[in-house]
Amino acid sequence: MFRKDLLELLRDNPMSVAEIAREVRVPVKEVHDDLRHLLQSLRHTGQEMDVTPAQCRKCGFEFDAEKLTKPSKCPKCRATWIREPLIEIRNRHRG
Ligand SMILES: [Zn+2]
Repeated sequence: MFRKDLLELLRDNPMSVAEIAREVRVPVKEVHDDLRHLLQSLRHTGQEMDVTPAQCRKCGFEFDAEKLTKPSKCPKCRATWIREPLIEIRNRHRG
């Protein structure tokens, strides 16, 4: 049920894990786990999860898209001013 809600919430609407957690009122860790499961279940569907990686707002360093939660600091310049990764569900491109 919750995963289906996530799907609806994120369809063409990029949100960070923290924003999702606030929206659906569940802990960040739980949202993170559900997103992982959702990613698996989307594999054979017409939809896909699109992740905009976290990025350092100071030096522009781009984090790994595998990480769905906000990194604490930039490994390059040590800044803590990090833009959170954004997660979106989109229709898979065909052809
Ligand atoms: Zn940086």
